[in-house]
This record gives sequence, structure tokens and C-alpha cells, in this order.
Amino acid sequence: MPLEEIKTRITKAEAEAGRAPGAVKLIAVSKVQPLERVEAVLDQGQRVFGENRVQEAAGKWPDFKTRYDGVELHLIGPLQSNKARQAMGLFDVIHSVDRPKVATALARLAQEEGHCPALFIQVNTGEEPQKAGILPSEADAFVAECRALDLPLMGLMCIPPVDEESSLHFALLAKIAARNGLTGLSMGMSSDFETAIALGATHVRVGSAIFGERVPPAA
Ligand SMILES: *Cc1c(COP(=O)(O)O)cnc(C)c1O
Repeated sequence: MPLEEIKTRITKAEAEAGRAPGAVKLIAVSKVQPLERVEAVLDQGQRVFGENRVQEAAGKWPDFKTRYDGVELHLIGPLQSNKARQAMGLFDVIHSVDRPKVATALARLAQEEGHCPALFIQVNTGEEPQKAGILPSEADAFVAECRALDLPLMGLMCIPPVDEESSLHFALLAKIAARNGLTGLSMGMSSDFETAIALGATHVRVGSAIFGERVPPAA
């Protein structure tokens, strides 16, 4: 049973890193997965899920939420400021605050609605031009900007470049978080979540290792 196996591996990685049991939250990344696979994982008791598109999440989660108590949804993909209101209604945590425009939109909506999801700032640790995120050199200033907007910052998130050793990126993210007094670290996916836990991850985002390979959308 993949979910149980992943949970066992997380527990073992926590122990080996000297972390407290339960220090790491498993986010089951259900994007693009067939509904019956998601439902099977809900039936095994998993309640924390990640989606990378607002529209896709809006299509499946309202129904699951009426049928399963205690679902906690995390947005792990890019957020357009024109989707921010919808995202705020759907998600408990947003991992992809990646530019001032999004921070400002969230702050304005938080004022209007009287609540705001917990937030992670996405850092482009590999400085990849095609990838979202704040550059490492601009991260401290952006953290300060988000704090000045009174946003509920939980920590930092990164997606390392595919062709590089992820541990270097995890260590860099942990260092930026520590010097800014942030405790949340969203890092680690199917192929490297144990490494991420060793380097301080508090949230790991695991998709294919739980659900199987993502099925491409029908043409
Ligand atoms: C898809 C995705 C994941 C999960 O990736 P797997 O390799 O399937 O575990 C994690 N984080 C983000 C941001 C993603 O888009």
C-alpha cells in the first residue's frame, strides 16, 4: 500500500534526522490523478492534499469536502492574482507566493474577507529563468514586504532544478528561512523527500510515489 509505505519512510527519515515524530506533514499531490485514485487515498485516511491548479482543484474538491471531514488543501502551483479570491476560498495553505503583485492581492483580499490561508514564499533557488519564485538574493526583502502587509507567513518553498543535486537547494532554502526567522520548509517530492527531511523539511509534497504515475489528460 503506497500511502502506508510513504508514511513509514517519513517516520524513519524523521528519526534518522533526530526530528520529532510527526514533525513532517505529508501533502499528497493529487493533481491530474483519476478521481478513484484520490478517493482510495481518502479512504485510507489521508486528509492533506496538494493541487497545482486552482481551476482543477475547484472541479473536484468541493464534492470530496462534503463527503470527507477534515480535508486540508494546499495550493502548490502558480497563482494568478485574478484567481486569488477563488484560491482563498478553496485552499487552507498557499505555497506559491512568488511576486509582489500576488502578495498585494492576497493582502487586499485578506482585509476584505477577514481571513487568509497560511502562506509560503516560493524561492527560485536554482535561478532558473522559466521557473516561478523569488530569487535567493531578493528573498529577505520580499519576506519583509510580506510581513509589512501583515500576511500570515508560514515559511519558504522550493522546487529544485531537475538535473541538480536537490540537497544543495534544500540547504539553501533552510538557510534563507533560518536567517528570516521562518520555521516552515516546503521541500521534497517523490524522488527526494527523505533528503529534504534530513535538511529540515516540515512539509513534503509527494505525488506519483503515492498515486502512481500521473495519467496524461485525454486528448
Ligand atoms: C507535481 C508536484 C509535486 C509532486 O511531484 P511527484 O514527483 O509526483 O512527487 C510536488 N510539488 C510540486 C510543486 C508539484 O507541482
